[in-house]
Amino acid sequence: MRIAAFPLILALSLSDCAAVRQQLGLALVTEQTEVDLGRKLAAQVEKQEKPLADARVQAYVRQVVAPIAQQSFRDRPGVEYQVTVIDDPKQINAFAIPGGYVYVYSGLLKAASNEAELAGVMAHEIGHVVGRHSANQLAAQYGIELLTQLALGEEGGQLREMAASLAGAGAMARFSRDDEREADEYGFKYLAACGYDPRALLTFFTKLEQLEKSRPSDLERLFASHPPTPERIALIEKMIAKAGASGGKLERDKFVKETASLRR
Ligand SMILES: [Zn+2]
Repeated sequence: MRIAAFPLILALSLSDCAAVRQQLGLALVTEQTEVDLGRKLAAQVEKQEKPLADARVQAYVRQVVAPIAQQSFRDRPGVEYQVTVIDDPKQINAFAIPGGYVYVYSGLLKAASNEAELAGVMAHEIGHVVGRHSANQLAAQYGIELLTQLALGEEGGQLREMAASLAGAGAMARFSRDDEREADEYGFKYLAACGYDPRALLTFFTKLEQLEKSRPSDLERLFASHPPTPERIALIEKMIAKAGASGGKLERDKFVKETASLRR
């Protein structure tokens, strides 16, 4: 009895903690500042990076994200998610900026084997948005005053610098271990609720490991802003064990068909 109750208590305390962190963040960076800053950063990111010109792939990824976003509204309603594929086959990464702008590189789409792996990555990014991690992290790094000024004003230089640190080769691990854990918890929940096999999170990590071995020069680019640490892998394994061996969909054929243009 005691053994069975422990994970439940642990889960409760973690989600309570997440809610408190979300509220604290909201007290620091207002919803409006987050949305305004997000819009300006998104314009910068889309200048610095090249959005993929393939409308079918863009529409497909948006369609994969829609039900995940729907699930996330239980934890954070009112976010208008904007999902964009960036054209860079060398980057195996994805990132979210304040306000619900989520980006994934064509390199990640090429590296993934099925829709469940893509959905897992996107659910993790949405988890960061739900937790307001990007807004909180930028507030800690740049100060709330500057963020508010940037959200209101026209200052370009700082925005460019900020966008460059979030995207492309400049993207590094910038979230805390707590942020990563929280994004994994939200992501796992949404992925399972959408009927995907949550083991896809682990198979994607395994693939990154194999790629690292075969292409050491690209090492720093593999999911650089969300490093799959042993701690993350252990947590995901624990969540899978707790959820039971229920399986779920992978949608391999559909994924391969919809992203075929990237593999030519
Ligand atoms: Zn992350």
